[in-house]
Amino acid sequence: MRELLSLLLALAAVGCRTSSSAPSPVDAAVPPPPRPMASYTPGRVGPITDYHVQLGTRGHDVALRAFEQGGARWLLLLDPERLVTRVEPDQGEPVLERDWTALEATPSPWIEARLAAEQHAASLQDSGLTHLLPKQSGLVLTVDLCPSTRHFDLRLVQRLLEVVEPKEKPVPLAFAVSGVWLEEHPSDLARLLALDGRDLDITWVNHSMHHRYDPNLPLQRNFLLESGTNLANEVLDAEVAMLTRGLTPSVFFRFPGLVSEPTLVTFVVALGLIPVGSDAWLAKGQRAKNGSIVLVHGNGNEPKGVDDFLHLLDQERRAISTRQFLLLDLREAVRETEEEDGG
Ligand SMILES: [Zn+2]
Repeated sequence: MRELLSLLLALAAVGCRTSSSAPSPVDAAVPPPPRPMASYTPGRVGPITDYHVQLGTRGHDVALRAFEQGGARWLLLLDPERLVTRVEPDQGEPVLERDWTALEATPSPWIEARLAAEQHAASLQDSGLTHLLPKQSGLVLTVDLCPSTRHFDLRLVQRLLEVVEPKEKPVPLAFAVSGVWLEEHPSDLARLLALDGRDLDITWVNHSMHHRYDPNLPLQRNFLLESGTNLANEVLDAEVAMLTRGLTPSVFFRFPGLVSEPTLVTFVVALGLIPVGSDAWLAKGQRAKNGSIVLVHGNGNEPKGVDDFLHLLDQERRAISTRQFLLLDLREAVRETEEEDGG
């Protein structure tokens, strides 16, 4: 199995397409999004090339990816304790190549969360982490941005700024972004980036490049399980789409439709990522509990979920005002969960 994964990863490195430098007509009409302080890196301009998986260690960090941009080489690095990613020049201390056996020999919340996600991979829907054990009361809000012809549902951010920000600034939340949504909604993305690092603390979750969906197919052959899907490209091209626009991909992945099978989970985990499901897809009638990973769609396609979340905020208004109810940072909540589970 490991040999097969190594081969697949090697193919992923070779087969990954790189971004096009030609702006689309939509991009040309809208000014480029402002770069948030949190992810701005001087020198990182222009198209990304030679994007590939590079697993190894550099000091206490784990290297996940390497690429070229603006005439320099860059690394996507992960702090395996805090689950925070960042981009840095590939210079100075070299990356020491490590296979999974070596990486897994050093326990960390990252290693534990990957293993936990892989052990929760049997079901067709909702594999990976779905519920957390944070130290404080509250929940993790995840907002999916699947491809859509509609604009971003601004009500969500407006109410977070009105109700939550006075008590929690910046407000932590996660956006699961598809590459196609990024390409087709530059002005909506610019609004989010302008808030990131100041009013919002956004964890950018990979939601695949194309997020294929056919309403006529059963779940078993739909989304990433649809025949002809190149999983490596779906994952890595979405990362390139994020990096090109100034977003730093987090270590988390959300399956489109929450649909997967064990081999897909194993593949994503072998890329160093942690699949994140949900135990509270509000529009499906699931109720949020303490420690829930709440799922709503911010892409305008499922306003009921946003309605339900706004209602929940109203219900918890008093607890929010006394900080008895918090929105939790996905990275921190996963770290606390793995530390709790690890004893
Ligand atoms: Zn989706």
